[in-house]
Amino acid sequence: MRHRALFVLCVLALCVVVAVRRLDRPPGVESRSLGDLDPAFRERLEQVLTQLEHRGFHPRIRATWRSPERQRHYRRLGWSRLDWGLHCATTPDGRPAALAADVDDARAATDPQRARFYLALREAAPDHGLVTGGTWSRSSRRWARYDLGWDPGHVQPAGLTSAQARAGERPW
Ligand SMILES: [Zn+2]
Repeated sequence: MRHRALFVLCVLALCVVVAVRRLDRPPGVESRSLGDLDPAFRERLEQVLTQLEHRGFHPRIRATWRSPERQRHYRRLGWSRLDWGLHCATTPDGRPAALAADVDDARAATDPQRARFYLALREAAPDHGLVTGGTWSRSSRRWARYDLGWDPGHVQPAGLTSAQARAGERPW
């Protein structure tokens, strides 16, 4: 009898663990693959990252393509201001072809080190037709201290709005 009670308790505990993990998992999908980027954007991004490697940084891709469902989730969390952003761009037939990537430095362990990378990223991007969220409004106190905009690891084509991209416009 005691064994049976213990067994039931274990099964219940397992159910709770599974349920909590399911609730934890964000909706939609997000990729880290460079293959999910628009090819022309990818080429330019890689040029920037190579340049930063030569300067001693260790660039790492955190996110490339994101489904609109995941994007809306981030908006609800306040991490993004858009329901559909350049991370969500696809080819005309619907395959992932993101026009944005989130990057950081794999070796940076502190905010001053991260900021040094983000400042170098912001400086390198324009030569390749790109811009970073480090140029946006300084509304994050964490990054404003380093004169950086609120999403300094975000890279995208310069002069392209998400509305234009959603309507099918491409910068190159
Ligand atoms: Zn981003």
